[in-house]
Amino acid sequence: TDEDALSFIEKPKVGFSDVGGMDHIKREIDLKIIKPLLHQDIYKAYGKKIGGGILLYGPPGCGKTHLAKATAGQINADFINVGINEILDMWIGSSERNLHEIFETARANKPCVIFIDEIDALGANRNDMNKSSGRTVINQFLSELDGVDSDNDGILVLGATNAPWHLDPAFRRPGRFDRIIFVSPPDEAARESIFRIHLSNKPVERIDYANLAKASKDFSGADIQAVIDVAIEEKLEQSFESGIPSPLSTKDLLKAIKKVKPSTKEW
Ligand code: ATP
Repeated sequence: TDEDALSFIEKPKVGFSDVGGMDHIKREIDLKIIKPLLHQDIYKAYGKKIGGGILLYGPPGCGKTHLAKATAGQINADFINVGINEILDMWIGSSERNLHEIFETARANKPCVIFIDEIDALGANRNDMNKSSGRTVINQFLSELDGVDSDNDGILVLGATNAPWHLDPAFRRPGRFDRIIFVSPPDEAARESIFRIHLSNKPVERIDYANLAKASKDFSGADIQAVIDVAIEEKLEQSFESGIPSPLSTKDLLKAIKKVKPSTKEW
């Protein structure tokens, strides 16, 4: 199954500048994760342990995965993206081995960011998993995270969840996911940057970004992507007729905003 594990690994081309907003989160990741990795010797000289994880939580589509990937890209690290349900489902009955292989793959490709989505599912009761085998998977995960018997220096673990309150308290101990960061829905300034980022490589004519940001209250980053997709969809026909890609206008995008439902209202 080495190949299966390796198929999760990639070298991201995105960095922090591709993530709109989240300035304080980028700062915290820089301090907690990037600086220790780049200056391991200094940290070690002071007897400080490098590693541990950060738990990201917040509504879907607001950039947790994107941020984790950008963190890897920012330091030119490899990136492994796995969902807990994938680990549990892919090779039923060998979840512990799967977990071990994922961490071993990361250790063989340092520096490496491991991103684990839906992390609360580890502790959740599943029909196909009795309580004690669920416990075994959790324990395996925690010992991989602690780096028992192995060297985790240079391995960064970011976990994500929409429901941190379901998380087993053992995850929260020092050296594990001892920091929790709320990835909030983007505010107006962040929405403006998200529009800028996602339109930067598209044909556009003078866009009023501030106006788009105002009109997209309660939209997540994923919703904004959907808005742009809808606007492009509308432009295609016109472009086919003229034979050249017709540039997107503020009006096109405002029209598309009306057609997409914002998803973060209740957060
Ligand atoms: P889920 O909880 O559903 O996994 P998530 O929080 O991990 O959601 P992402 O998958 O990271 O959300 O975001 C969905 C898409 O929206 C991404 O592909 C990204 O392009 C875009 N996006 C979200 N937030 C931002 C942001 N702050 N800046 C730029 N793009 C963003």
